Amino acid sequence: MSILVTGAAGFIGSNFVLDWLSQDNETVINLDALTYAGNRENLASLEENPAHIFVRGSIADFDLVAKLLAEHAPRAVINFAAESHVDRSIHGPEDFIQTNIVGTFRLLEAVRAYHGRLPENEKNRFRFLHVSTDEVYGSLNKDDAAFTETNRYEPNSPYSASKAASDHLVRAYHHTYGLPVLTTNCSNNYGPYHFPEKLIPLCIHNALAGKPLPIYGDGQQIRDWLYVKDHCSAIRRVLEAGKLGEVYNVGGWNEKANLDVVHTLCAILDELSPRADGQSYRTQITFVTDRPGHDRRYAIDATKLERELGWKPAETFETGIRKTVQWYLDNQAWVNNVTSGAYKQWLGKQYGAA
Ligand code: NAD
Repeated sequence: MSILVTGAAGFIGSNFVLDWLSQDNETVINLDALTYAGNRENLASLEENPAHIFVRGSIADFDLVAKLLAEHAPRAVINFAAESHVDRSIHGPEDFIQTNIVGTFRLLEAVRAYHGRLPENEKNRFRFLHVSTDEVYGSLNKDDAAFTETNRYEPNSPYSASKAASDHLVRAYHHTYGLPVLTTNCSNNYGPYHFPEKLIPLCIHNALAGKPLPIYGDGQQIRDWLYVKDHCSAIRRVLEAGKLGEVYNVGGWNEKANLDVVHTLCAILDELSPRADGQSYRTQITFVTDRPGHDRRYAIDATKLERELGWKPAETFETGIRKTVQWYLDNQAWVNNVTSGAYKQWLGKQYGAA
């Protein structure tokens, strides 16, 4: 048997594939377009593993997806492929529309045709799992209850709007065509192989490089954090036992203000890799102009996933963040390789602080 995983050279997808193949020898076909966020180095340990088949290409390429489905007959498709960075969506929304909306649509079309041709027993077993974000629900006020699966969609950025559209398409393919779909909406992930444009890896990278740690606005925006391997275990659980057509929120009940996250990172780095001058990394914190339309608070209520499917995260924020800092300290070569010239230019444009 096999599974087709899209976008699995990116942050979460590569963690998912590494985790999958550490527990299973079911073949993984990894379809990834290798945008700036895709990095085959994440999967270097699988180079000799015949159970990992890498294919460079886009989910928007109907013919390619149809060919892969026909050739490998996967029992599931897990869709991680996306443009995923909010700031980039503000500067250039077009790619987000193309990949997250048009790409998901073409992928669904190819999967629908494939599913329609499967023999009855395989048809019943097949799953399409769409990986999405809590950002589709919009922004919460301080005292609002955390997002449940029945919250209204109120996306505020081109990124979250494009993900919301993809979620709706997935839902519609279930209701209209009977495609056996599952959707997960997860909070912010952190952990190994995270591209250093996002808050946590960016701050670790900049701290060690002696650069400013840029904090948007007052740093009091609240995000709900989940260690990436816990997200992977949730996806595995939903794939195994989720009810068709259902949505599952995934989160670790870890709401933190961005500034507190950066203070925690600085404290761990002060302990594990102290600055030569004995000062705290906190002195590198620099406040920068806030992101336009910046959502104030996200919080996920994961009760449905916990109660109905018995899933629990293995890490607390404290244990997960320590593991993450240690991973970046141990994998400086990976960080140096991904922080290429193009990445530096982007950072300079974004924060004026590359
Ligand atoms: P990422 O940007 O690190 O990786 C995305 C991957 O998709 C890259 O490898 C990229 O090359 C690939 N890709 C982009 N366009 C493609 C296309 N047209 N065809 C095939 N591959 C393509 O993203 P991530 O952080 O790993 O997120 C993965 C998924 O999880 C996304 O759908 C995202 O919306 C969702 N998600 C992310 C988070 C988070 O905190 N990072 C939280 C919740 C949900």
